[in-house]
Amino acid sequence: MKKIDYRNQALKILPWVCTKCGRDFSGKNLRELTVHHKDHNSANNPPDGSNWELLCIYCHDNEHSRHMDAQWLPTRDTDREKTPLSTHTPFADLLKGLGGSDRKGEGGTED
Ligand SMILES: [Zn+2]
Ligand SMILES: [Zn+2]
Repeated sequence: MKKIDYRNQALKILPWVCTKCGRDFSGKNLRELTVHHKDHNSANNPPDGSNWELLCIYCHDNEHSRHMDAQWLPTRDTDREKTPLSTHTPFADLLKGLGGSDRKGEGGTED
């Protein structure tokens, strides 16, 4: 598995500031500063940093939500897909109907 550590490289040559919102980073919040590829091609990593832009995770998210290629945060979409959508039960309406007719029978006060 070959992985270019462009983030380290980018942090070496670029100022630790979000290009969008201007927030600056150091030490422990530096992990929120991410490398964005201006051409959205993470394989394009010129050593002079001309394809890189440092963005905080929020601005980066914003930037990518427009393009729908958020592969820089791989856990996000898989998490969303895992959440079960099975809260809808086709029998719910059926049971409701049965309950209604049941009550009508036991009461016996039908007009
Ligand atoms: Zn930002
Ligand atoms: Zn990006």
